[in-house]
Amino acid sequence: MATPAHQLYWLRTDLRVHDNTALARACAAGPTIAVFLLSPGQWHQHDDAACKVDFWLRNLKALAAELKALHIPLLVREANHWAQAPKVIAALCEEHAIEQVHCNREYGVNETHRDDAVAAALGKNGVGFTAYVDATLFEPGSVLTHSGGYFKVFSQFRKVCNERLGHSLPGIVRKPSAQAPLRVASDPLPDSVKGFATPSQSLRELWPAGEGEARRRLEHFTDGVIEAYDVDRDLPSRPGTSTLSAYLTAGVLSPRQCLHAALRHNHGELQSGNAGATTWIGELIWREFYKHILVGFPRVSMHRAFRPQTEALPWRHAPKDLEAWQQGRTGFPIIDAAMRQLLETGWMHNRLRMLVAMFLTKNLLIDWREGERFFMQHLIDGDLAANNGGWQWSASTGTDSVPYFRLFNPLSQSEKFDAQGVFLKQWLPELQSLSKKDVHNPAQARGLFDEVDYPKPIVDLKQSRERALSAFKNL
Ligand code: FAD
Repeated sequence: MATPAHQLYWLRTDLRVHDNTALARACAAGPTIAVFLLSPGQWHQHDDAACKVDFWLRNLKALAAELKALHIPLLVREANHWAQAPKVIAALCEEHAIEQVHCNREYGVNETHRDDAVAAALGKNGVGFTAYVDATLFEPGSVLTHSGGYFKVFSQFRKVCNERLGHSLPGIVRKPSAQAPLRVASDPLPDSVKGFATPSQSLRELWPAGEGEARRRLEHFTDGVIEAYDVDRDLPSRPGTSTLSAYLTAGVLSPRQCLHAALRHNHGELQSGNAGATTWIGELIWREFYKHILVGFPRVSMHRAFRPQTEALPWRHAPKDLEAWQQGRTGFPIIDAAMRQLLETGWMHNRLRMLVAMFLTKNLLIDWREGERFFMQHLIDGDLAANNGGWQWSASTGTDSVPYFRLFNPLSQSEKFDAQGVFLKQWLPELQSLSKKDVHNPAQARGLFDEVDYPKPIVDLKQSRERALSAFKNL
């Protein structure tokens, strides 16, 4: 009897066996082999953070055990730049008599070019290539305005998503059953990749790898924390958000799993019921929105402003100010505490991401692309669509972004969202001795400031606000 042709499941940022479209389709089509490509050159070009690469590798290890239980061999190949991916995948297909390659679609210009080139190379050899919609609830390009364009306003996009979800929810894909063992050995998995430093043990412990951990977090969140999400999500000192972004970005968890869990908590209600649950579902739709924007307006994935006229802004070349912002030494405790949280944990609370981004782009008038890059280089959840969307929102250069005249004041935001100074003192122990009033603005704590080893503010808030407003007005 002839051996059935093999299927190749090419895994990328979809490091899970549950609810995985491409994996399920490959297994349904025949005996399956999995492959992961190491692409350090490309990852550097994309500013992928060392802690994110380490998170991929750790999750790959956890996934290897799951795949082993399904008798799916996991191969690892190197394609330093994605330009080499067609050659590497084609050779692998030849080596293992592959009939069809299955993968979940990734969005972004380089990702699309890579997949198109691989599909073309395989086509020449008679090997099929299918990329599935999996990382989003809806296929980008399928949620459109009446006139057939991409939505540029979030509330309108969300309305249509909710209408669709109200009619039919995207279902959870079943985990494949174990296949008969194949005569293909799995490759050893690397512990690290050259050029990407291993992060500290304390950072690693904050983000344990594996689907079990991702699902445990999701359950913990949707079993209780979600109730008060609409209020607590603004308070950086509280564990009021899901901390699932790293898992979603690496695809250790799917957006469908998140949506179903939130709906279970909210008795199936999308737009009514518990305000915490509906607000959280709204955040999943923000995630969706920015992925659709990336596809509809590819210029944003090439470091271009969504609103082209904002490219004429007179951004300041101010390396010292940029460095102070990067290192958390601006003299504004809420900004500095947030940046230190990023440097130490690979993650930053959402309200603080908005605050530090606005501070950089408005008060320091430094190009949002500097901040976007620095975030990517340090975030464990760094995601092109969400990061670009967040930066362009804060810089008022993006779609449906904050109006340029609505500048957050770091001092009043600090008093409002960290009233007791708990978050500030956690990340800036040098301010421990200051009262809960003075800790927001040490420079004004008369007499006390000289005793504290903390920088003076690098910018005057009032003057810098005026400077930003006039730069935008003159566009
Ligand atoms: P939760 O509040 O529990 O939200 C649940 C999920 O919804 C998140 O895990 C995330 O997948 C999604 N989400 C929430 N808020 C947003 C948002 N505003 N835009 C898009 N998706 C959202 N998110 C990233 O995943 N990667 C990034 O690189 C990233 N960069 C950002 C940069 C800036 C300047 C800003 C303002 C926001 C950025 N965000 C990014 C969005 C948001 O800050 C994080 O998703 C969130 O803080 C992650 O924490 P959480 O998982 O506890 O979120």
